[in-house]
Amino acid sequence: MSSPRVLFVSSEVTPFAKVGGLADVAGTLPLELVKQGVDCRIIMPLYRRIRQRYGQDLKFLRWSMLKMGWRSMYSGLLSLEQDGMTYYFIDNEYYFGQEAIYLDYAFDIERFCFFQRAVLEALGQPMDFTPEILHLNDWQTGLMPALLQAHYWPAGYFNDIKIVYTIHNLKYQGIHSRERIADLCDLSSQYLNDYGVQMDGVPNFLKAGIVYSNAVTTVSPTYANEILSSFYGEGLDGVLGAYRHKLSGILNGISNEDWNPAMDKALAQNYDAKTVKKGKAVCRTKLHEELGLPEDPKRPLAVMITRLVDQKGLDLLIRVLDEILDDDINVAVLGTGDPFYEQEMRGFEMRRPDRFRACIMFDDALARRMYAGADFFLMPSLFEPCGLSQMISMRYGTIPIVRETGGLSDTVIAYNQYTGEGNGFSFANINAHELLYTTKYAADIFRREDGSWDALVQSAMAQSFDWSRSAAQYLELYRSLLDESDADN
Ligand code: ADP
Repeated sequence: MSSPRVLFVSSEVTPFAKVGGLADVAGTLPLELVKQGVDCRIIMPLYRRIRQRYGQDLKFLRWSMLKMGWRSMYSGLLSLEQDGMTYYFIDNEYYFGQEAIYLDYAFDIERFCFFQRAVLEALGQPMDFTPEILHLNDWQTGLMPALLQAHYWPAGYFNDIKIVYTIHNLKYQGIHSRERIADLCDLSSQYLNDYGVQMDGVPNFLKAGIVYSNAVTTVSPTYANEILSSFYGEGLDGVLGAYRHKLSGILNGISNEDWNPAMDKALAQNYDAKTVKKGKAVCRTKLHEELGLPEDPKRPLAVMITRLVDQKGLDLLIRVLDEILDDDINVAVLGTGDPFYEQEMRGFEMRRPDRFRACIMFDDALARRMYAGADFFLMPSLFEPCGLSQMISMRYGTIPIVRETGGLSDTVIAYNQYTGEGNGFSFANINAHELLYTTKYAADIFRREDGSWDALVQSAMAQSFDWSRSAAQYLELYRSLLDESDADN
């Protein structure tokens, strides 16, 4: 069978730039696709941190001036070969020369208008690669199918390229005024209308992605279903319903190499399923020391590693955190985000220094030490397209406590104390006391000395979340789109 040529387009890709799970997916799914025979390459913005870290190894390919309304902007194309993958980078100092990956929202809209247009321009230039499939991700790339149709199809360019659009989070849609988008993207009312790019009279990148691509995927089967309802649909449930025929859910995976307690260099002691009891005990002690929390073998340590945003159920946690701490459970939160939640977390640390730590920072190595050294991983999300943290924590033998939504429903099987089945704990409703009682129940199982906790850890570590199955599903989707186009010709 043929090997499709796929260009994967993302605003975040590990190891270059990461804010959340999108980066993990964009950094690892393509590697598995390559293993499965796909000629897959990745393109992303050249943020300052990438130039600083990889500057010497980057190969300059070409530059051009890109027209955006009245602007004429420099656009450089660079590449890097690493671990069998070709990465392309779009360079523009004005848009991507800052320390942060995302800046203020209005400027981000302009930055990613530029990025999307620059990627399409790169296709037509000597990029030494002509993709058959563009695999786009999230709002930052949602306008590309419309731009392709508006600016390239009429001149006979790229009419055969098929587009897969993956929604990692429906909440962030890329919405801005019609005048600004018309100007930045040179789009006419043929596209800027409510049948096309606009939602309720306003341009919406994510909606455009749904309308103009050939296939829309989201990152878990349950979330694919949930977003058809008004509760989870973020205002787009009607549109998604209308395009339901091209919507599917493919569960994210994680990289078994990257997330491997047996190899992880950040850990004080490496371990696998056989040595988990000893290894985790060392990591647990070290982590308590690092956090400055008193350790007791009977006192579970629950952690949360997350963007501090309302999606993650922080309001539920805040409501019952005192009661959780009173139940003799230590809690540590690692995250940055909404200043309100950052402040709340700092406040708890001040009031309960004996039980609670707030690490308000982004720190990959600390995250790894927390995945390894903790007993519980809390994820009471209001919605969760897929969620990677629960899978990572299981791999490190840390038991997730989650709300049953989206990908959390698809990956966490609630523990049944009578049969011993399950790999975590879960509760159904957006209700702080359900979180509290589920956490207390988990602590109860943890404190039993009948081997049930060890069995649960073994069952969590035995789960396989690697990319092989999901990548095969993407490959099947690519092939079906290419077969369709063969049939059309
Ligand atoms: P989302 O994509 O909604 O942010 P996911 O659970 O899918 O949530 O992915 C989150 C990823 O980001 C995980 O790899 C998690 O370990 C990582 N992460 C989140 N916050 C931090 C932080 N403050 N420091 C280090 N890693 C973090």
